[in-house]
Amino acid sequence: MALSTSEFRGRFGFGAMRLPMVGGEPDYELCNQMFDRFLEAGLNYFDTAHVYLGGKSEVALRESLVKRHPRESFFLVDKLTHGTFKNPETIRRVFQEELDACGVEYFDLLLAHAVNSAHYEMYTRQGVFETAKEFVADGRARHFGISYHDGPELLERILTEHPEIEAVQLQINYEDWDSPSVRSREVYEVATAHGVPVIVMEPCKGGQLVNLPEVAQRALDAAPNPEGLSNAGFALRFCATQPNVAMVLSGMNNMDQVEDNLHAMAGDPAPLTAEQLQALRDVHEAFASLGMIPCTACHYCTNGCPRHIMIPELFADLNTKRVFGGWNPGWYFNNVHTVGGHAKPSECIKCGKCERECPQGLPIRQLLTEVAAEFE
Ligand code: SF4
Ligand code: SF4
Repeated sequence: MALSTSEFRGRFGFGAMRLPMVGGEPDYELCNQMFDRFLEAGLNYFDTAHVYLGGKSEVALRESLVKRHPRESFFLVDKLTHGTFKNPETIRRVFQEELDACGVEYFDLLLAHAVNSAHYEMYTRQGVFETAKEFVADGRARHFGISYHDGPELLERILTEHPEIEAVQLQINYEDWDSPSVRSREVYEVATAHGVPVIVMEPCKGGQLVNLPEVAQRALDAAPNPEGLSNAGFALRFCATQPNVAMVLSGMNNMDQVEDNLHAMAGDPAPLTAEQLQALRDVHEAFASLGMIPCTACHYCTNGCPRHIMIPELFADLNTKRVFGGWNPGWYFNNVHTVGGHAKPSECIKCGKCERECPQGLPIRQLLTEVAAEFE
């Protein structure tokens, strides 16, 4: 069984991970405008999770989408996230809390969140897959799938062991497509071989493919661009070029991003041409030449760090230093990212907790020694 693409409109979804906030609360006025514009453009897929924005993402969706539009006018996805439950009883409680937070009686799609080898064993032990079947049976989840961060071998095993999985959400972007750590192409091919549609997350690699360093920007500017695609537009179109991609998510934060993304993705987005795809490979080469750390700033690594090290911010400091040089990243390192109870990278006790959570498989402990060598 697989999720039918006829159940939602278009191939472009609204990721509610980076919604605009004001004073620690969702900017409801702006969320109203962004969601309305998205629906007016003929799209209806919204993706959230209980843990996004500390629970405020679900609330923003309830206030700005659910209360203002008929339930059948949107397709809503939520997730079961590790760390929020321990067993079937607590899974049932958390799931109902998610429905209540969103103000809905059912989700169109429920995903087991951020499945990797460690989480797969844990979810199996805790009964996530069996308990999710109850929600599908009683209609509170119309479909079930997983979001996934690991290699093709494990995905093959999971899809074989769980034929009830109807969709797989994968990190796909042109930078990670042939990456030896993320292995986007290979995991995409496993899902495709199982006839399971793919939902794309991080198409712009956490923003890294939007603000390109100069050498990479020059490579992209060489691409034929008759539609006037932005950097983000190229990144989104790359994902939509893959035939088994049913949906591409973008975590939009303001109206300019909504308009820019709609320009690239509303309607039936055309695949990129061979020349455009070559330009993206040239961008990849440019990135490789700069030695940038491929961190997507998802922050999954920071929750359990006993030294409260601001890992993604420190990696961003090092990336900025490597690409642009100058004093600014060092200032942020000393005055923002290693103060207020956040330890310096040299104070890392090398416990390895962060690396077990990193979807990118980054050698965080080693990379922190590089940050320390640059800034301390
Ligand atoms: S290895 Fe270092 S950075 Fe990672 S969780 Fe442990 S103390 Fe924090
Ligand atoms: S180091 Fe890994 S887990 Fe941490 S923010 Fe970057 S990509 Fe996410």
